[in-house]
Amino acid sequence: MQLCNSVPKPKSNERSKLKKMIETDILIIGAGPTGLFTVFEAGLLKLKCHIIDALPQPGGQLSELYPKKPIYDIPGLPDVLAGDLVNNLMEQIKQFQPGFTLSETAETIDKLDDGTFIVTTNKGTKHHAKAIAIAGGLGTFEPRKPEIDRISFYEEKGVEYFVKDPELFRDKKIVIAGGGDSALDWSIFLADVASEVTLIHRRNEFRGALDSVEKLQEYKKLGLVNLITPAEVISLHGEEHLNAITINKDGNQETIKTDYFIPLFGLTPKLGAIANWGLEIEKNAIKVNNALDYQTNIPGIYAIGDVNTYPGKLKLILCGFHEATLMCQSVYQRINPGKKYVLKYTTVSGVDGFDGTRKEAEKAVVKSIE
Ligand SMILES: Cc1cc2nc3c(=O)[nH]c(=O)nc-3n(C[C@H](O)[C@H](O)[C@H](O)COP(=O)(O)OP(=O)(O)OC[C@H]3O[C@@H](n4cnc5c(N)ncnc54)[C@H](O)[C@@H]3O)c2cc1C
Repeated sequence: MQLCNSVPKPKSNERSKLKKMIETDILIIGAGPTGLFTVFEAGLLKLKCHIIDALPQPGGQLSELYPKKPIYDIPGLPDVLAGDLVNNLMEQIKQFQPGFTLSETAETIDKLDDGTFIVTTNKGTKHHAKAIAIAGGLGTFEPRKPEIDRISFYEEKGVEYFVKDPELFRDKKIVIAGGGDSALDWSIFLADVASEVTLIHRRNEFRGALDSVEKLQEYKKLGLVNLITPAEVISLHGEEHLNAITINKDGNQETIKTDYFIPLFGLTPKLGAIANWGLEIEKNAIKVNNALDYQTNIPGIYAIGDVNTYPGKLKLILCGFHEATLMCQSVYQRINPGKKYVLKYTTVSGVDGFDGTRKEAEKAVVKSIE
């Protein structure tokens, strides 16, 4: 097993390079609910956070897999849409001004002699942190790719598996394939952006939220989306960039001109590069010390939320929130050795944001009664 890379303490000229890095107290890998709530608990302890996520938006599984589904087991919220819970978490942590590196995957980690870490993404962005919180959930989401000849040649040349920036499709002809929520929702959304949207699905039935299916029906009637079912894309064309696709519908082939093909056939989670960081892994999850602080076998690297495992582990949002809270106390002790922390209730102490804002309960009026 390869241990987390240990590199010498940076020399002074190397220190100047570090200045160009993103500096933070806690580097959180994963902007799912666990990673987001970590920012709040860390903020109460005056610790600054920066979050990396491979996806273009925060929210993890909630945003990517079920934004419109209600969740019924968040304490104090009898039912809340997954997307709304993410928005609320973002609002709750705003005061603590977290930094975000989105659409980038944490690839390598180096531990410096002073016990701090440098995490580098697949795009070369470097982050220097005093502690690492891996909140990577089930891992990075890899798109399920359709088996179409030469599809890899067209990746980033007309074939996109995620809609990272809708503006890429402004005034372009696009073909989306798939029958789930993502295919429905992006077809509807991009109808206002692209010059032409065609949705292709191999069945006549769609597996999505009822309001999305109804909206697509309406968009089809209005001519805002071309719907072709049951049909499958069977080949791609274009010399340097995609310019057309061929579909098979009821045994007949038809070629359609298009600038982009977006197959949305679901995502498979993969632990990815984190699995090579020298962490103890069990059943595709990171083993942690749950009796204390959710630290891994490498001091200073913690794993919280769906990504960790310990006896009795439950992969639930509320468990991730609890783990994040205890972990932050441990990071505080690591960064401020010997300094006593006294637990304060937010109702009593209020919340002081890093942006100068303060939330506090209304002060009691001191007035004598005649
Ligand atoms: C359909 C469905 C319904 C659910 N319903 C409920 C429910 O009702 N109640 C409940 O409590 N739970 C529910 N869950 C489970 C819940 O969604 C998870 O427990 C929760 O999302 C875990 O949060 P997390 O922050 O730990 O991880 P995630 O939400 O998985 O977020 C992890 C993030 O880390 C990122 N990431 C991973 N590796 C890297 C890397 N190397 N670099 C950069 N980014 C990385 C991923 O892109 C992802 O965004 C449901 C799950 C599903 C799929």
